Amino acid sequence: MSLATQPQPARAADLLAWYDRHRRVLPWRALPGEQPDPYRVWVSEIMLQQTTIAAVKPFFERFMQRFPTVEALAAAPSDDVMQAWAGLGYYSRARNLHACAKAVAEHHRGRFPDTEDGLRELPGIGAYTAGAVAAIAFDRPAVAVDGNVERVMTRLFAIDEPLPGSKPLIRERVLALLPPARPGDFAQALMDLGATICTPRSPACGLCPWRDPCEARAAGTQETYPHKTPKKAGKTRYGAAFVLMREDGAVLVRTRPARGLLGGMVEVPTSEWSAGYKAEDALRDAPVTAQWRRLLVPLRHVFTHFPLELAVLVARTPLDTLAPDGMRFTPFARLREEAFPNVFLKALEAGLEALRSSPSAP
Ligand code: SF4
Repeated sequence: MSLATQPQPARAADLLAWYDRHRRVLPWRALPGEQPDPYRVWVSEIMLQQTTIAAVKPFFERFMQRFPTVEALAAAPSDDVMQAWAGLGYYSRARNLHACAKAVAEHHRGRFPDTEDGLRELPGIGAYTAGAVAAIAFDRPAVAVDGNVERVMTRLFAIDEPLPGSKPLIRERVLALLPPARPGDFAQALMDLGATICTPRSPACGLCPWRDPCEARAAGTQETYPHKTPKKAGKTRYGAAFVLMREDGAVLVRTRPARGLLGGMVEVPTSEWSAGYKAEDALRDAPVTAQWRRLLVPLRHVFTHFPLELAVLVARTPLDTLAPDGMRFTPFARLREEAFPNVFLKALEAGLEALRSSPSAP
């Protein structure tokens, strides 16, 4: 290829010009000319980790109505925060979010530190979030590499090394492109490009501001990037979940320990979860003696590290039944207020459906 026909290298200016015309309007994003609110930027970044924008939007709006400022979030009881988070998954994030709000309120007079290093010192803020908040909220020349950015960069530079090994190289490439002016817009533009144009399947290369310098597009291999080291799937764990309804419709629940998987969230009582658990032995783990009935179809749920299969057992119990230690009966009308993660919502719904179809449903 002669020098005259060689494509120009990718330039931040082309991406920013595209962003000025096509930027997405998002509830946490400042409009052109507005000052971003670091609190909203931070909450959105925590919510968006591993979740889509479409899923986060309604949660974000409700969360902001309930906790409009970092001080309001810091002052809220932990149960309220967990409940507002229920459904988003990754509950350790909600605990860290709360701890971070308290740290900002107590040690920084309600103002987020405005540098990557300062943000890194707060609970629950890792490299990605610190970079994203520093760039977006404070226009610092910081790098925030998420899945969208990884996809764009590996395609643009045809980076063949699989993830996660290629992360340092991707970061280096972003740093090299980072413009001295408008680094916050650059970070958001990269995210928008990955989310709307350089999509995992059928990227719209014809509309891309970097279509000329893009190496993968030139080779026709866009959809093969990013390359990934295959993950080992975790072994399936098995267990049992017990949906017990009292005569007045109240359901037996308990709060999980604060630390560990789904820590601090609410569950219907369950057995241990293990690879060797046998559903036929589940009665041994029932929280009270009752006429337990096992549903024909077990509940399946996939956590990040392992799939789970739970046998669901249901029973009714008289009004004078006492909740075992560490458990409580929640009135039927108040079940929606409990911070159930999705897996236990599924168990509860399956159990209640089975109880409803039996004669003396509430
Ligand atoms: S040209 Fe296509 S593959 Fe390359 S960065 Fe743009 S959208 Fe992605």
